[in-house]
Amino acid sequence: MAGVLSTGPGRQGGTEAKASIVTISADSALVLFSGGQDSTVCLAWALERFARVETVGFDYSQRHAVELSVRGRLRDKLAGLKPYWNERLGDDHVIRLGALAAISETALTRETAIQIADSGLPTTFVPGRNLIFFCFAGALAYRRGARHLVAGMCETDYSGYPDCRDDTVKAIQVALSLGLDKRVTIHTPLMWVDKADTFAMAEQIGGKAFLDLVIEDSHSCYLGDRAQRHDWGYGCGTCPACRLRAEGFAKFIGRKT
Ligand code: ZN
Repeated sequence: MAGVLSTGPGRQGGTEAKASIVTISADSALVLFSGGQDSTVCLAWALERFARVETVGFDYSQRHAVELSVRGRLRDKLAGLKPYWNERLGDDHVIRLGALAAISETALTRETAIQIADSGLPTTFVPGRNLIFFCFAGALAYRRGARHLVAGMCETDYSGYPDCRDDTVKAIQVALSLGLDKRVTIHTPLMWVDKADTFAMAEQIGGKAFLDLVIEDSHSCYLGDRAQRHDWGYGCGTCPACRLRAEGFAKFIGRKT
């Protein structure tokens, strides 16, 4: 993150986050919140910046819907970290997109091995997923009066998904703004940071309490493993999502020592 942009009204909760200048938008934001590490940090990022923050998750018959199941607990615990986060955190929405699974043949929606396909992309790639998510999120934001969408796409150490690219997201922003005839701004605070920086950002935003929450309660593992606890959180430890998270955490800790 380029510099410290904002903070809330005072530093409650005994966090270790750095004091900084407050810039709060009176607007509402809708966060694409899957329950993963990235979207959890994005939710906290939004809670620091917007007067009202709602969340949306998508149920597309994922093979392992663990991410969806951790969302409620994450939201509750987040609200308990800072009083003004509690005040700002609004409704949660879950949109069922079973059709996405019906038209996809991927390792996230079928019992297919996670590997690199002939396309050069991992078999975890769900074609068009983020394009579809943003269309539904845009429609929901329109109805809820939210001008801002916040999402955790990242182009730095991602898996090569073309719909996570900055250009893709910018194109969607233009398409939504035109198609809804209403200005929509998509924020992707993690676009240019790696997983180590995402851990650092979590600590910067909400101190050790929030960092611990991200480690303990957010979920990244493609296989839905919540049985094995590592220093970076729960997961199988070997799928691409676990490896990214583990490597990022090791790098994050390495910088501190
Ligand atoms: Zn895993």
